[in-house]
Amino acid sequence: MNSNSLLNFVPRFKPFGEWAEWMLTSIGPWDRTEAGRSSENKPIYLYRAGHGPRILLGWAQMHGNEPTATNALLALFQEELPKEAQEKCTFYFIPLLNPDGADRFTRENASGLDINRDARECATPEAQILIKLLERIKPDLCLNLHDQRVTFRHKNTSIPATFSILSPRNHPTDLDNSFREISKIWSGFLVDKISAIHPAGCTSFSDEFYPSAFGELIQEKYAPIVLIETGAFSTDYNRTYQARVLSTVLHALLVQFSEIPAEEYLRRYTDLEPAETGLVDLLLLSEKSGTGVALSLFENTEGIYYEIMEVGDVADCPAITTIYCEEILKGNLLAVGQKVTQWSALGVFGSV
Ligand SMILES: [Zn+2]
Repeated sequence: MNSNSLLNFVPRFKPFGEWAEWMLTSIGPWDRTEAGRSSENKPIYLYRAGHGPRILLGWAQMHGNEPTATNALLALFQEELPKEAQEKCTFYFIPLLNPDGADRFTRENASGLDINRDARECATPEAQILIKLLERIKPDLCLNLHDQRVTFRHKNTSIPATFSILSPRNHPTDLDNSFREISKIWSGFLVDKISAIHPAGCTSFSDEFYPSAFGELIQEKYAPIVLIETGAFSTDYNRTYQARVLSTVLHALLVQFSEIPAEEYLRRYTDLEPAETGLVDLLLLSEKSGTGVALSLFENTEGIYYEIMEVGDVADCPAITTIYCEEILKGNLLAVGQKVTQWSALGVFGSV
């Protein structure tokens, strides 16, 4: 195996200019306006389709290094929408809420602020745009679309949590509020649609209460909201599969959105197992000694790299890919946190 093949993946990062070009190409039944501008004056596009009274609002890439749902939405905008859905509903989507973060491939915006911790203070222009839009269009449901790290997995397995769903809390101890009830039913609807395509199904995402997050604020004051996290799947680093599944599921939601789904869907959500952490992308393991190195993929604007997550006794570490090799143990100095882009840095030659 040659040394370059260690990182033979399609990057997720694209400079904002490339996203913008894609967003400006043809868009089927959707019209596109600017919802506002980022701190660095980049356009934040708002797409709209339909003209009915039922209102849906979704946004993606609030975190600039989480582009899977942006890809899903741009695919969705190429699809036909039934006339009936367009007559009964109006759909709004912001496919890229944090263009400055996207340009840097960072979670935060240009000022280093996490937009999803700015819901109440609204110190960022991006959070202000979202709040103003919420107040103007008064949605019946919101969708907050994110990517999650590879570490999340189905309980007691090495199956990645490819889709995690959350109906966020509306209060630290839960208010008796109809927004959350409706959001749980829609969450169950989404679980049902995802599981019909993706056999491993969904996990629930942690419902720890973050008072400054948009999910919590919206669920308390504005509308039912569902958070969808797309995670790892097999060795598809670029998450092409996840974007395709998400796009199909969102299309099903749009088609059904004129009616509140049956209450039976609630169980589909409340029955979900929470995701566990600890999954890595790659395990290099000595079968003889049970020792080795656990690595996960990361990316910045320069490229993709592995980072060492664990060294030593890693035989029980859940991994997407395990490669058995012995050479790695021949006296290399490997440390947690170390970045690796070459097999040779791991002392792995020939045998993998
Ligand atoms: Zn996120």
